[in-house]
Amino acid sequence: MDFLQINNLNSIQECDLKIEQMNSFKNNYLKKIKSINELIKSIENHKYQLCEKKGHQWIMEYEDGIYGERFVVCKNCGLF
Ligand SMILES: [Zn+2]
Repeated sequence: MDFLQINNLNSIQECDLKIEQMNSFKNNYLKKIKSINELIKSIENHKYQLCEKKGHQWIMEYEDGIYGERFVVCKNCGLF
């Protein structure tokens, strides 16, 4: 459904039904996003452990800007 089709909803009941359907779609996407985020975290963790076997190479990085903070990051895996 796109925004043009909204005009085809001719009653409160049709609107409620459509809202319910859209919320269901939305919740499915949110579940997928949650599971993708968990997958990304697992891959990052795996990447960190792979790098750790060889040994991280820690370097000092600086944030942009005059009040930029210093932080330590591994130059191989990019994690800190
Ligand atoms: Zn590393």
